[in-house]
Amino acid sequence: MATVGCAITQPDRPAGYAFRSQPDNLVFHWNAGRMPVRYWAEPKGALPAYVDEGIRSWEDQFLYGEFEGTRITDSTTMQVRIEITGSAPPTAPLSTAPPAPACDGRTTLTVGTDNHMALPIVVTLRWFAGFTAEQVANCLARVTVHEIGHTIGLLQHSDRVTDIMYGAPFGVVQARELSSRDGASAQRLYHTASDITP
Ligand SMILES: [Zn+2]
Repeated sequence: MATVGCAITQPDRPAGYAFRSQPDNLVFHWNAGRMPVRYWAEPKGALPAYVDEGIRSWEDQFLYGEFEGTRITDSTTMQVRIEITGSAPPTAPLSTAPPAPACDGRTTLTVGTDNHMALPIVVTLRWFAGFTAEQVANCLARVTVHEIGHTIGLLQHSDRVTDIMYGAPFGVVQARELSSRDGASAQRLYHTASDITP
């Protein structure tokens, strides 16, 4: 009998990061009956375009349409509202310039006692003076993708700077696009039973 020695190479399957709400430890994701999720973006600056790109980026992580979103212009039926505080931000072509803390964002999810998500989920973005238009545009585009990640149910942050879901308390969002870990986390989330119903 011959023995064959071979090196087993582990497939590169990034496990991703945790997504349960804290401290409740609940899972939230949209279910098939509520798709496509209806996003409304305040028509300020290039926000609608950033939202379109954010929705598309997350949809692209799924093979079978587990998550689908669409941007609507009539806010009466919105399930997610994305707004920018204050005046319209400057617009500029997106670039690969180093990230600057020219903006931030917050996603507010309100869960009732019956574990029912109150809609709409609200994303509030802010941009800051003292930065170039390019820095503000790059920041808002990036943070919009990150906040949309929260709205699909990724309710925790990654501690790796290369993930789009990297963020407070670790630092500011720096990645320009989704990593394989972002994709793996989203896929794992949509194949986990949701505790919260939208
Ligand atoms: Zn965040």
